Amino acid sequence: MTSLPPPAAKKLGLVIDLDTCVGCHACAVACKEWNDGGQFGPLTDEQPYGAEPLGVWFNRVHSYEVEPAQKAQPAMTVHFPRSCLHCEAPDCVTVCPTGASYKRAEDGIVLVDADKCIGCQLCAWACPYGAREYSERHGTMQKCTLCVDRIYNESFDEYDRQPACVMACPTRARHFGDLGDPESTVSKLVAERGGYDLMPEIGYKPVNKYLPPRPRRNGCASSPPAAATEEKVDFSTSPVLRWMDRILSR
Ligand code: SF4
Ligand code: SF4
Repeated sequence: MTSLPPPAAKKLGLVIDLDTCVGCHACAVACKEWNDGGQFGPLTDEQPYGAEPLGVWFNRVHSYEVEPAQKAQPAMTVHFPRSCLHCEAPDCVTVCPTGASYKRAEDGIVLVDADKCIGCQLCAWACPYGAREYSERHGTMQKCTLCVDRIYNESFDEYDRQPACVMACPTRARHFGDLGDPESTVSKLVAERGGYDLMPEIGYKPVNKYLPPRPRRNGCASSPPAAATEEKVDFSTSPVLRWMDRILSR
């Protein structure tokens, strides 16, 4: 079994805005493109055009239609990008029998050392978020690295030292930074928008946060702007996120 380091002051992670994500998959494709070489080698695809396309994606985007709480309200489409949340207390690390799965003391990033991984997949069973990806071709576990090879890369301009998914997002729904620093831009964004932990009851303490969708206008853009039916969906108690917890819990 593998131990976790003491909690670090620096907690690098992502803040994902479910209000502005349009489900275009640019983040998933940019992630695959960036991580498809170098340290990992190809992120495999088996039968990419077949009935059951399988492969390794560190970031996947799921789209759901959420039924309204009341019939008069419109249904809502929510696009939910899913990747490793770089949890503070993740069992995916502690279950690892070889030390392959580890959390970095200096910035909290959770990584897999492919040279030590025996492909037992215990970590995938331990991850409640479905964030681990097993490569049949390599026989090892793979996962989001927060683009650790970009964010510290001094040959890049400072602006480019961000994960590929963040750089690619056309609606700027993805933000990267230090969630351990209350003064960081990402921490302030979380505080302003009511950023949310996925399934906090499990106790993994995810570092990544999700920003809830804002209330939608009822109907199309031509609806009267001051209609009394507007903004009646009460997101103050985050029903979409409660619903998302239920989806993840299945
Ligand atoms: Fe581990 Fe899953 Fe948390 Fe990532 S999201 S740290 S893989 S438990
Ligand atoms: Fe550790 Fe690899 Fe097994 Fe996961 S699959 S628990 S990283 S040895």
